[in-house]
Amino acid sequence: CGIVGYIGHREAYPIVLKGLKRLEYRGYDSAGIALYDGKDLKLSKTKGKVVELEEKLESEISTQGTIGIGHTRWATHGEPNDVNSHPHYSNSGDLVIIHNGIIENYDAIKQELIKRGYTFTSDTDTEVLVNLIEDVKKQDDVKLGKAVQIALNQVVGAYAIAVFDKNKPDEIVVARLGSPLAIGVGEKEFFIASDASPFIEYTTNAIYLEDGEMAVVRISKGIKIRKIQDDSLVDPYIQELQM
Ligand code: GLU
Repeated sequence: CGIVGYIGHREAYPIVLKGLKRLEYRGYDSAGIALYDGKDLKLSKTKGKVVELEEKLESEISTQGTIGIGHTRWATHGEPNDVNSHPHYSNSGDLVIIHNGIIENYDAIKQELIKRGYTFTSDTDTEVLVNLIEDVKKQDDVKLGKAVQIALNQVVGAYAIAVFDKNKPDEIVVARLGSPLAIGVGEKEFFIASDASPFIEYTTNAIYLEDGEMAVVRISKGIKIRKIQDDSLVDPYIQELQM
C-alpha cells in the first residue's frame, strides 16, 4: 500500500499516477486518485491495478488540477472493492483523505458519528477518520490542521494520512504514526509519498516525518511540523537525497 500527493504549479495527475506505479512494489488490491482543478473536486477509484485505475479515471473525470492525492490500498477493514477504495470524502464533500494503516477504535467513533447524523458509504476505518476530522473542524471551528491533530489524538492505531479541503486548495495536511511518510520539498511545490521514489526526479530535498508528527504543507508558507500529542513545533530537517 502507498500514498502519493502533489501541491504546486504543475499538473498533479501525471505525478500522482506515476508515483502510484513506483509504489506498486509495496503490494495493493485497489487504487484511487482525487484531484481539485480550482472548481471541482474529482475522484476516481477502483479495485485492481494502477493501469486499470488509469483507464477508468481518464474515462470518468478530467485530469486537470494542481493539487491531488493518490492511494494504493491493502484492505484491512472492508473487502477490496470500488467503494472501499481510497480516497474517501467526508459527508460534506469538502474533505478528501488517503490513509495507510488501521484505526483500531473506528467502530466506537463511527457509532458516535452516526448518532450525530453522519452516514457512511464504505466499510472502512478511513471514512470514519475523515468524518471525525470534519466533525471536529465544525464543532470546534478550527482550521484543518488543528482538526486533524485533535481527531488523531482520539484515535488508536497506525496511519500515514494526507487530507485536503477543497475550499482551501493551497494546503495538504499529513501525519504519520507507524506507516512511513516523506515530503519532497521543491520550489513552491511539495510532494507527499510513502517513500521518495515518486518525487526524486523533481526534487532531492526530502523531509521524513517521524512517528507522532504531522505537517501542514502550504504552497505559499512552506511546511510546519508539529508533534501530534503535545502540539510542540519541530524544526524541519531537510535531507539531501542521492539520485
Ligand atoms: N485500513 C484502511 C482500509 O482498509 C487502509 C488500508 C491500507 O493501508 O491500504 O481501507
